Amino acid sequence: MKCYHCAVEADAKKTNHIVDMDDCIIIVRQVPSYVCPQCGEVMYTVSVAKQIEQYVEAAKSAMSDLSVINYQNLIA
Ligand SMILES: [Zn+2]
Repeated sequence: MKCYHCAVEADAKKTNHIVDMDDCIIIVRQVPSYVCPQCGEVMYTVSVAKQIEQYVEAAKSAMSDLSVINYQNLIA
C-alpha cells in the first residue's frame, strides 16, 4: 500500500487505533496497518477499517468511559 500524500511504499506495522470522543475514548490495539516512513500517515485495508468501524459503533452504544480491545479479538 502506498501513502496518499508521498506516494511512498508504506511499511506493514501493528498500531493502536485511538478514537477520542467527547465523552469516551475507544482504543483498538495491535491493528494491522500500513505506516508511511516519510510522513507517518497510518492506513488500513478496507476490511480492517470496516472491522474497526463496527467495533467503534458497538463501543459507543455501550456508553462506557473507556473501551479497549485487541484487534486480534475482533477477528477471532
Ligand atoms: Zn507519506
